Amino acid sequence: MRRERSEALYEQALDVIVGGVNSPSRSFRAVGGGAPVFMKRAQGAYFWDEDGNRYIDYLGAFGPIILGHAHPAVTEAIVKTAAEGTLYGTPTEKEIRFCRMLREAIPSCELLRLVNSGTEAVMSAIRLARAYTGRDKIIKFAGCYHGHSDLVLVAAGSGPSTLGMPDSAGIPQSIAREVITVPFNRLDTLEQALDRWGDQTAAVLVEPLVGNFGIVPPAPGFLEGVNRLAHAAGALVIYDEVITAFRFHYGGVQTLYGVEPDLTALGKIIGGGLPIGAYGGRREIMELVAPVGPMYQAGTMAGNPLSVAAGIACLETLARPGTYERLDQAGERLAGAIAELASRYGIPVQINRKGGAFTVYFTDRPVTDYDGAKAADGEAFARFFHLMLESGVYLPASKYEAWFLTIAHSDEDIDRTIEAVERAFREMKREG
Ligand code: PMP
Repeated sequence: MRRERSEALYEQALDVIVGGVNSPSRSFRAVGGGAPVFMKRAQGAYFWDEDGNRYIDYLGAFGPIILGHAHPAVTEAIVKTAAEGTLYGTPTEKEIRFCRMLREAIPSCELLRLVNSGTEAVMSAIRLARAYTGRDKIIKFAGCYHGHSDLVLVAAGSGPSTLGMPDSAGIPQSIAREVITVPFNRLDTLEQALDRWGDQTAAVLVEPLVGNFGIVPPAPGFLEGVNRLAHAAGALVIYDEVITAFRFHYGGVQTLYGVEPDLTALGKIIGGGLPIGAYGGRREIMELVAPVGPMYQAGTMAGNPLSVAAGIACLETLARPGTYERLDQAGERLAGAIAELASRYGIPVQINRKGGAFTVYFTDRPVTDYDGAKAADGEAFARFFHLMLESGVYLPASKYEAWFLTIAHSDEDIDRTIEAVERAFREMKREG
């Protein structure tokens, strides 16, 4: 497969965009480097690159594209809305409709506020937890990624750690000191942290089902334990559902497992592919936000008509009967076939799956936390990644990122992907 234009564009990009990419996870540094693929167009389950190659897409733009690319309902909503003006700086009726849809699906969000990204949603939820409790510290879980604000880049997950940088430069020590990081899926270490710092802790922040070192579900009782321990210490619980909300069913992981946090951060899918974020929670807490209360948070682009219209169209489409059953069946078939091929070709893999999202870790040990995900074989994954790319299958360029299915992936796309996996495994076995 020729990718000459991507290579030439990468050279040009390097000259004007730092690292040639506008987000580090788009680079191919975690899979051996080289030019990333420059895409020109996307439709349904496919990408076409600048050289005219077609790929089946399992990146899903890191999550938002659950309907497939350029879904007609979303495109139509965007075009129609754009013709009526893109930004008003005033409230609109659509925002009410959209936030009602979010609250109906995720009832713990009694009041909501729209923002522009997952980063902003988490950052604002943390400020609110601090305002409500009058405390400064945050407890988070190793490997979970919560956006790129200072506080949560301390021992963060997918983005920075993909590049082998567990922290970021430029974060003041004084801020890093306010963050305590404990392992996911363990209550004993959380309890120890709360024993020591509980009276200074504003919130325990968690991805209730991890999406950022691959798909890692909570162990039975883990989420209940997080609530019990945090609340006993007088701390709030914040769920970061930026990846998980509307991914596995029409609602959040919290509605799926029946455990409610005090505050929730949302993003990705709820914007139907346009920039968005939201945070919400108990009325009594949310009423601390300006203009009602003393916690300031604002946004020129927040609740903009285009993102809201795309979000409504996306949620309406997802709400149709059968959506999540189809995603689950497709996920089961594809992940099942990969597991079977891996065992046939003697390649050790662990597959963690929830519905239409799964991660193929190149390891023989079950992955239940960040250490387990990090232990996966990066070289084997990099080889697999490039073999799949050559076969026209686009995977996220990290050994522990999730593959996301969309409702646009057909049975035939999955068959072709399974054939590509078999070719890749056969080649890997031949190479030893
Ligand atoms: N939280 C989680 C769980 C995420 O996965 C991400 C993005 N990968 C974010 C927050 C940050 O969202 P954004 O990139 O929209 O700022």
